Amino acid sequence: MQDRHAHLLLSAARADLEREFNVSLPDFRTFDLPALQEGETETSAQAIARLNRWVRQFLVPLCQRPNYLEVSVRSALEQAQKSGVTRFEVSFGADFPRIYHLKPEDCVERIAWIHQEFTPDLDFRLDLGFPRTKPMEDLEKWLGDILRVRDRRPDLAAYFGGIDLYDVEDAQPPETFRSLFRTAQNAGLKLKAHVGEFGSAESVRHTVEVLDLAEVQHGIHAVESPDVLRFLADRGTILNVSPTSNRVLHAFDWDQRPDPVERLREAGVQFLFSSDDYLLFGASAADEMELMRNS
Ligand SMILES: [Zn+2]
Repeated sequence: MQDRHAHLLLSAARADLEREFNVSLPDFRTFDLPALQEGETETSAQAIARLNRWVRQFLVPLCQRPNYLEVSVRSALEQAQKSGVTRFEVSFGADFPRIYHLKPEDCVERIAWIHQEFTPDLDFRLDLGFPRTKPMEDLEKWLGDILRVRDRRPDLAAYFGGIDLYDVEDAQPPETFRSLFRTAQNAGLKLKAHVGEFGSAESVRHTVEVLDLAEVQHGIHAVESPDVLRFLADRGTILNVSPTSNRVLHAFDWDQRPDPVERLREAGVQFLFSSDDYLLFGASAADEMELMRNS
């Protein structure tokens, strides 16, 4: 089984972090839920605000621990392998080394060591993750730095699988990132981006066209347009869908009829289930498949 949409530093098992750091981490799915009147439901904006609070309150302090990278990456890889994943493609923020005052080379070297030491049989690749909210010159510089590491270190080259764009979907139009994606494409990286998690079917088509994406993280709102589904099917673009993440953040209604999975299948759109953030949503790619089978 493959999981091609996960975020490396949000994919650990909660129990591993609790044990290793001797802390108690509340389950995000039930953390700080708003008091609602009868018939009211939490909005996406409220869920995202809760998520940001959870990250600030519980994750950011852990990230300050000197061995956070080792502990969380090891847990994420072991958790993926235990759940039956054989190929694991994860986004790793290209800004992470800088935030934690590490050289990009040292950072990738540490991740590679953890992989080889604890889950050498797992086919594991990094998608360099770029937040849409940051200035373009920073993104270009981070990509350049990482590509230089790849050129200098053939022993690490196999870890660089692709590129991913995330953060607020409409922070900047996809045209802004065209040159970044061309550089990545010329370097042989697989092109992915988060779109259609909250945004429209049309935004999925537009982003796929402008950035020449091979895969879309989420993209599930594409089911709202038969035209866009046909476009994705004809193009062979793969959607990496994460129903539990969508349910928890109220991003998309998977219980609607006709069934979204049926609509994807009937249109011939290729899709895979993925975990997104196992630490927050607690569902592996295998769990997602099982949940769908039973729904
Ligand atoms: Zn994601």
